[in-house]
Amino acid sequence: MKLILLQSLFWMFVFHRIMGEDSGCQLRGGKCQKDNLHCSGYYVNGLCSSYGSRRCCFNSRTDPISCTEVKIVSRSDWGAVPPTNVSYLKPPVDLVFIHHTDTQSCSDLESCSKILRSIQYFHMHVRGWADIAYSFLVGEDGNAYEGRGWDLIGSHTKGYNDRSLGFAFIGNYSIHLPPATGLSAAMNLIKCGIENGKITPDYCMYGHRDVRDTSCPGEALYREIRTWTHYNCTDSTLFFMGNLRSGTRSIHFIKP
Ligand SMILES: [Zn+2]
Repeated sequence: MKLILLQSLFWMFVFHRIMGEDSGCQLRGGKCQKDNLHCSGYYVNGLCSSYGSRRCCFNSRTDPISCTEVKIVSRSDWGAVPPTNVSYLKPPVDLVFIHHTDTQSCSDLESCSKILRSIQYFHMHVRGWADIAYSFLVGEDGNAYEGRGWDLIGSHTKGYNDRSLGFAFIGNYSIHLPPATGLSAAMNLIKCGIENGKITPDYCMYGHRDVRDTSCPGEALYREIRTWTHYNCTDSTLFFMGNLRSGTRSIHFIKP
C-alpha cells in the first residue's frame, strides 16, 4: 500500500514537472513532443521540460492569416531553417520600416528562394542573429515571402525591432524601383496586416535610413516610399520614441 502511494506521488510529481515546464510552449500555441517525431512546422528549443529529447513543435510560424490580395510564400516553401530563438511582438504595431536586401533581385519562386536561403544563412551565421532579419520580404515576382512573420520580433531596424514590422524588397533599389507588382505586393501586405490586427490603421512608415546611417532602402525606393500616405506621419506617437527630433519632419540619421 505504501509502495503504491509512493509510486502515485512520484508520477504526480513527474506529471507536474512536465506540465509546468511545458507551459512556455503551450502558451505560445505549440506542442511538446519528442523531436524524432514529425513536426509539420518547426521545432523551438528551451520551451519544454528537459526530460528526454522533447522540443516545442509549432505547426505554423504565425497566425494563419490569409491575405486575399497578396500571395505569401511560407517558410517551408522557400526552404527556411528553424530559428535558433524566438521572441514575441505585442501586436498591433504602429511602426513599419521599409528595407532593401542589397542583393540580387529575383523574379520567380526558385530564384527568390535561393536568395532568401543565402540571406538567412548570412544573418544567422555571420551576423549571429536568430533568424532572417525581416518580417517579410517581397520579390520582383510580386510574391511576399515569410520571414519572421507577423508576431515575432525581427532584427531589421536596430532600436525599433520590438515595436515595428520590417518589410524588405529583395534586390538593390538605389538606381531603379521594384516593378509595380512588387510595390503593390508590399502595400497589400501592409493592408492585410491592418485587417488582421497586426498593424494599427494609423501606422507610421519609414525607410531604414530614417533611423540609421545606411543607404537602405536605396535612393530610388526611398524617393518612392516618401510619396506613400503613411510615410513620416506626424502622429504624436512618434515622439514617445524619445530619440526623434520633435518639431522637424526630418529624422534622418538620428541613431537610437
Ligand atoms: Zn535596411
